[in-house]
Amino acid sequence: MRDFATELEARKAEGLYRVRRQVSGPQQPRLTADGERRLSFCSNDYLGLANHPATRDALVSALSETGLGGAASHLICGHHDAHHHLEERLAAFTRRESALLFSTGYMANLGVISALAGRGDTVFSDRLNHASIIDGCLLSRATVQTYPHGDVATLAAKLSATPGHKLVVTDGVFSMDGDVAPLKELARVCRRYDALLMVDDAHGLGVLGPQGRGSVLAEGLSTDDVPLLVGTLGKAVGTSGAFVAGSALMMDYLVQKARTYIYTTAMPPALARATAASLDVIEQGDERRIHLRALTTRFREGAQALGYTLMPSNTPIQPILVGGNEAALALSQALEAKGLLVTAIRPPTVPVGEARLRVTLSAAHTEADVDTLLAALASVAPPSPSTLSTLSMPIRSVS
Ligand SMILES: *Cc1c(COP(=O)(O)O)cnc(C)c1O
Repeated sequence: MRDFATELEARKAEGLYRVRRQVSGPQQPRLTADGERRLSFCSNDYLGLANHPATRDALVSALSETGLGGAASHLICGHHDAHHHLEERLAAFTRRESALLFSTGYMANLGVISALAGRGDTVFSDRLNHASIIDGCLLSRATVQTYPHGDVATLAAKLSATPGHKLVVTDGVFSMDGDVAPLKELARVCRRYDALLMVDDAHGLGVLGPQGRGSVLAEGLSTDDVPLLVGTLGKAVGTSGAFVAGSALMMDYLVQKARTYIYTTAMPPALARATAASLDVIEQGDERRIHLRALTTRFREGAQALGYTLMPSNTPIQPILVGGNEAALALSQALEAKGLLVTAIRPPTVPVGEARLRVTLSAAHTEADVDTLLAALASVAPPSPSTLSTLSMPIRSVS
């Protein structure tokens, strides 16, 4: 039998062992983790809606009407009008004809990719795509071609050399780097080479674009340009679940074919009501997004002035590049000793030699919170350039 204990010890020796912190109380910047008060810069609650009164109230008042459990899959008897209204709401929010709810973003990506590509087809995937996209590609049994991060020219060459059905999949905002995919260019080459384009906007929805409608609408792209848009509800939307949006025809096709839609229990209907309330808050005004952008600029300017290496990101995902696994862990631990929670991200979540601290900002942070983080970063030395020497990626700069 395989020696699982030795594998675990090897992980520890490489600085790759993972542990979970136990959070008590609601998710918000000031939280309790393992019994200690911390200021957190690592959640994906970009708009501070995970504990918003309007969403909580909507959940509580929906419960008496809908009860709690989802009870069945959508195709048996689980498709509640609360789900149906949320699908219509999400379609309108993303300016699409139709939308389909999934229980998680992971399941949405597995289901959509494996429904739309199969044996004999080819899926083209950005090298830095989320794990759920990678797994969806594997599950599809299609041939998978990975293209270098954001490299549309290489993708175009691969597309032109590939016959048959082609699906191109990309994160809208890359989850560990924070940069935005070259969506206009991707849409252009996909049209030129008759490939279907799917964008997973888990980190753009709520944050980018007019009224937070996401990275695709921020670029002025429609369903014709990006036929499949996946969004998740557990990040900026602050609840849980996910959806895919596009034409009514494609949604109909997915209802027939997406196995992670068909063979799983519908989310609790009250959660769908709470999610709709959260969308109301997101649409209402841009104050949260304006505040978030100001915090992002403040952090970037401060951290760069301190000599830290940031990545070319204008989103609330602001990784500090470190390089080595142990060095990233050490920086995370030094900040934790000062009361700050910023998690180290290590391979295989990011490429080997590109371990980093993934700082994420939230509209629930104050300017003083960002200054607290900057003061802590000032008091622990930036990682020496030698730890960055193993970096394989070019470090670009953004304004
Ligand atoms: C978080 C994430 C997912 C998974 O969404 P969940 O709802 O958390 O399962 C999918 N894609 C990307 C890009 C993500 O960052």
